[in-house]
Amino acid sequence: MDKPPFFEGVFSVLRPRPLIDVAEWAERKRILPASGSSSPGPWRNSRTPYLVEIMKELSPQSKAKEIVFIKGSQIGATESATNFLLYRMDTLPGSFLYVMPTESDAMKLSKQRLTPSIEAIESLRSRLQKRIGNSLTEKVFPGGYVVLSGSNSPSALASLPIGNAICDEIDRYGVILGEGDPLELVRARLATFPNSKLFCLSTPTLEETSNIWRLYKESDQRVYMVQCPYCNHASDNEGYFEIKMELIQWTKGKYDDVMLHCPHCGVGIEEHKKPQMLAGGKWVAQNPGHWRVGFSLSSLYSPLGWLSWRAIARKFDEAGNDPERLQTFTNTILGLPWKETGESISQEYLARRVEKYNAQVPNEVLQITMAVDVQKTRLEYEVCGWARDEECYGIEYGRIEGPTTELDSGDPDFPSVWKQLDDLRRKDFIREDGYVMRISCVMIDSGGIDATTDTVYNYTLPRERERVFAIKGSSQASRPILNKPSRNTRNRCALFVIGVDRAKELIYARLKIDEFGPGYCHFPSDGAAGYTAQYFAGLICERRMIKYVNGYKKLFWWKPRDARNEPLDLRVYNTNAVKFLNPNWDVLEKRYAKPVKVDAAPAAKTTTYTRRPEGIDLNITI
Ligand SMILES: [Zn+2]
Repeated sequence: MDKPPFFEGVFSVLRPRPLIDVAEWAERKRILPASGSSSPGPWRNSRTPYLVEIMKELSPQSKAKEIVFIKGSQIGATESATNFLLYRMDTLPGSFLYVMPTESDAMKLSKQRLTPSIEAIESLRSRLQKRIGNSLTEKVFPGGYVVLSGSNSPSALASLPIGNAICDEIDRYGVILGEGDPLELVRARLATFPNSKLFCLSTPTLEETSNIWRLYKESDQRVYMVQCPYCNHASDNEGYFEIKMELIQWTKGKYDDVMLHCPHCGVGIEEHKKPQMLAGGKWVAQNPGHWRVGFSLSSLYSPLGWLSWRAIARKFDEAGNDPERLQTFTNTILGLPWKETGESISQEYLARRVEKYNAQVPNEVLQITMAVDVQKTRLEYEVCGWARDEECYGIEYGRIEGPTTELDSGDPDFPSVWKQLDDLRRKDFIREDGYVMRISCVMIDSGGIDATTDTVYNYTLPRERERVFAIKGSSQASRPILNKPSRNTRNRCALFVIGVDRAKELIYARLKIDEFGPGYCHFPSDGAAGYTAQYFAGLICERRMIKYVNGYKKLFWWKPRDARNEPLDLRVYNTNAVKFLNPNWDVLEKRYAKPVKVDAAPAAKTTTYTRRPEGIDLNITI
C-alpha cells in the first residue's frame, strides 16, 4: 500500500491528486502583485511561453527530480520558481525549502516577492492569516510549511527532511566550510521523499567556478528554438533556430535598426514579431536522455515590453572592451558563464621571449636578490637581477634537494640544504663587463610547511645582517606588497608579511610588457639557468577571478589543482626583496659605469650575441 508522505498524512485533509500542473495552475490562480512586477495582474502563460515546459517539469505529473535553469535577467525565471512554491502550498501542501545565497537575501525574497504573492491569491491568503508562527523566514499553513534560508546557514539546511526545494541564485552560494556544499545538504534532506523535486536556478558567473553551469552541462541541455516568421513552413521541423547575440545586428550608436537576422533566409526580423516566435517555439535537448533536466535561456527571449533587443544592443556597445562589463553582459544578458582570459598569459608567449645573455649577469643588472621556497624535501630558489625601474633579469632558478627541517645534518660529507644555501647565496656573480656582484637580499618563505617555520626563523635570525629574512604571504586583498617587518614571537626574528594578491597582479602586468624597459621581465635561454617549460607553466598557472563567498563578491587568485606555482611565489618574494632594498638607481648606475679593474676582468669573450628574444622548445621535460 502507498503511504502518503509524512506531512501530507498528518496535517492535511485527504485530497485527490490534483489534475492540473504548475503551468495550468498559474494560468488559473496566479496574480502578479503590483510590487516588484513589470506586468502586474493575472499570470498569462502566453506572455512567457517558454516557461510552460519548465513548470510542467516542476509538476508532480513529471518524473524529473532535478530541474536546472541557467538564465539571463528579465525572462520571468524567478516567477516560475514562485509558481512552483505557491502551487505546492495551494494544492499539495508539504514541506518546502527555499534557499537564497544569504539570510538577508531570503528575508528580502519573503518581504518583496513571496508575501505579496501569497496575499494576492485569495485561497492562500485566508489560510495563512489564521496561523500563528508565520514569520518572514518561515510560513506555516494547513498541511505544511515553507522555510526560507540562506545558503550560509548550515543548521537550517541540515535539519528536518523536506519534500521540495528551490535553490535560487546558486552561483552566489559560498561553500560552508567543514559542512560541505549547501547543495549536497539540500539533496540529503530531499533524499527521504521518493517524489521530491529540486529546482536550481541562477545567472551564471565564471566558467571555472559556476555551479549552475556545471549542473547544466550535466543535464539534457534544453535550448529554446524558434522559427523565422518569413521563411518557416508549419510542418517543417528544420527551420528552428536559437536566438543568439550573433544574429542580432545594428548600426553602432544607432539603435532603431536593431533586428534579428534569420540564419536561414537572412531576412531581418523586427522585435514586434517576437511574441509570435516565442509562442511557436519549442525546447530541444542538446544532450537527450540525461536524467537531469536542464534549461538555458538568455535575455534575448525577454517578452515584448520587458528587455528589448535595442536595450541589449546598447548595453553591448557600452561594455566595449572592458572585461568586467563584458563579464556582466555575458552573465546577466546572455545567461552564459564568463571565461576569464584577461589575467592569464600564455606559456608560449613567455617561452618565445627567452633570450641569450652574454654572461650570467647582463650589464644592465644593478642589484641581485634571491627568493627561497621551502618544501619538505627541498628548497626551491630563484636569483633575480634588477635594472633601473625594476626591469627584471631572471638569473637562476633551481632546487636544493634534501630534508629541510634540520639546519645542520651533522654529516660534513652531506651538508644540510641550509648549509648549501649559505654557499649558494654567498657566491660571486660575474657581470658581463667583469664586475663581481653579490646577492643583496634573500627572502625565505616561513609559511609553507608548519614543520619548517621554526627552522626558517632560526636560519634567518643570525643572518639578518646579511639581509636574509623570513617572509609570510597574506592573501588579504588590500594589503600592499611590502610591509614593515615585525618581530615574530618565537625567536624575535624579522618577519615580512607580503601582500601576495597585489604582488601577483603586478607580476602578471609586468609579464605582459613586451618592450625592454621599466618592469620588463627577461629570461635567459641558457639551459643551466633553469628557465624551462615547466618553469613558465608554473609562473603563469594562476588566474585572477571573481568568486561569490556567502553572497559577497571577492577577487581571488585561482590555482588549478596540482599546478606547481613555486615559480610565481618566488617572483613574489623577489619583488618584495627589491622593494625592500628600494635601490637608488642613479647612484648604482654611476657606480657601475666606471670600467672594471683590469685584474678582475674575465678572459676575453669569443662571441658576443645581440640580445633578442629567441625562444625555447616548449617540449622540454625534466
Ligand atoms: Zn528566415
